[in-house]
Amino acid sequence: MKRLRNRGEVPKNIYSKICKNPACAVSFECFHGNRGFCSDRCKRNYERDLKKAARDMSKRMERLMNRSAAVFEEYLKSGKTKITVNEMKQRNIDSNVFTARLKSLNGEIIYVFGEYVLHKIAEVEYYITKTQ
Ligand SMILES: [Zn+2]
Repeated sequence: MKRLRNRGEVPKNIYSKICKNPACAVSFECFHGNRGFCSDRCKRNYERDLKKAARDMSKRMERLMNRSAAVFEEYLKSGKTKITVNEMKQRNIDSNVFTARLKSLNGEIIYVFGEYVLHKIAEVEYYITKTQ
């Protein structure tokens, strides 16, 4: 193979690729177009990093959900049934992190945060309920 290349006769079935592992990203040559990684080890490292990133993201989501749930729980225990967008901001509730956003037939929009449900009653105000 080396001799062929020295004569400038690179076989057509050699692909020059960039490793799919962004932490590596070296360019490499391979004989099969479907190979995406420079080595098996690099592929394993990439898959391990992906799994870890997914785990970290899940943990982060769980923390944010638990923080929101704790605030809603506190509100309901103290007899408050409404929360405003400003109050949520002050309590660091990330309003983008919810389990589901649903719209009922009569147009009511609800946001589900685990076992807590926020019913939109005004542009900046929500009514809090707990399922069960
Ligand atoms: Zn690589």
